[in-house]
Amino acid sequence: MQTRRPLIAGNWKMFKTGAEAERTALELVELIGPAPGPEVMLAPPFTALSAVNEAIAGSPVTLGAQNMHWESRGAFTGEISPDMLHAAGCRYVLIGHSERRQLFAETDETVNRKIKAALTTGLAPVFCVGETESQRRADQTFPVLDKQVADGLQGLDSGVLNRLVIAYEPVWAIGTGLAATADQAQEVHRYLRKWITDNLGTALADQIRILYGGSVKPANVAELMAQPDIDGALVGGASLEAQSFAQLVAYR
Ligand code: PEP
Repeated sequence: MQTRRPLIAGNWKMFKTGAEAERTALELVELIGPAPGPEVMLAPPFTALSAVNEAIAGSPVTLGAQNMHWESRGAFTGEISPDMLHAAGCRYVLIGHSERRQLFAETDETVNRKIKAALTTGLAPVFCVGETESQRRADQTFPVLDKQVADGLQGLDSGVLNRLVIAYEPVWAIGTGLAATADQAQEVHRYLRKWITDNLGTALADQIRILYGGSVKPANVAELMAQPDIDGALVGGASLEAQSFAQLVAYR
């Protein structure tokens, strides 16, 4: 059984100009110091990637993007390719965030293409899955997750999957202030870990990190992180201020 290094990731969504992002990133680097326990990742908007990359240079913070296209280049006006993200210093990329699925018509099929492209380009995809409130009420959480995970990972070569990160983000908990309880989250994480064991094998189930996302805050992070199958957090609102994000990083 291997130990998975926790990952605390900040999704800045469509907030912060380059200058604002740089200021927050510099403050965060100062606050967390040279050796935070968990790995730390920031996913600013595309226009702030370069400023944040400079601000985190020489620090333990790594860079991620919030989305990408699956092709490496071409006539796709308005899109950004995995190669471009890699060249811009990104190591991670969020794929299939519920806001992309709900507001920008992302499907399990496009998510699958993006995960494949990210892995081939050397990026680590943070593959977001999660049920809506009505799906949970209808007792559909596990079937919904089964489909998202099976379709999203379809046809992937298991040789590169150790870089995959999964983020369980119940849609009803994102930006609502209503986080899943530690027990609710652990139940789903255990289920996802078993899915990986059954479909991809024990070695990958031991390696792949499963983050929880949805209203994570300094007040609830420790209890969530104490669960055996929760390997980190994907954080929106509470990552926007360096002080609160640094508190999340120091959750122990
Ligand atoms: C997110 O956007 O991935 C998220 C989890 O947001 P919040 O922490 O604000 O709920």
